[in-house]
Amino acid sequence: MTTGSILLGAAILLLVVLFVARPLLQRAPVAPLPRTSRQRLLAQKEALLAEILSLDFDYETGKLPPELYQHQRAAMVAEAAAILEQLDSLPQVVIADAEIEAAIAQLRGQAPAAPVVTPPVAVSVSGSGNGHGRFCTQCGSTIDPNDKFCAHCGSKITPPAVKPA
Ligand SMILES: [Zn+2]
Repeated sequence: MTTGSILLGAAILLLVVLFVARPLLQRAPVAPLPRTSRQRLLAQKEALLAEILSLDFDYETGKLPPELYQHQRAAMVAEAAAILEQLDSLPQVVIADAEIEAAIAQLRGQAPAAPVVTPPVAVSVSGSGNGHGRFCTQCGSTIDPNDKFCAHCGSKITPPAVKPA
């Protein structure tokens, strides 16, 4: 292997590493724009907390000198405090109402309100009391009390016991 090919390989490797690490070197990926200012602030707070954690990690692993770490961390904490303050200052009631309305609208979009259907009134069967309406013991079809055979399957029907008068 010649020196030239080694250098070429190293250059290619460097390019690949830069390409792969590019998203990491840039700022955090842009999240979809939150709807309300409250959600925007919450997202900012989350991002800031993640940055502080990352900063702590860098400091603990010795990547950051203490003075730089303390300076950056103080700035981040101040920024986070400002965000929390903004969150507190937001008109809570209005936002709650808006969020509820949005949730309702979303529900409406997903599942439209079912029309109110009046349940059918159960019609009480009169005229054929117990014992009068009979069913075939073989196939379950309704049979006339006077029939001797089932009209559906032809089974012989045992006549009901005649009650003594
Ligand atoms: Zn039958």
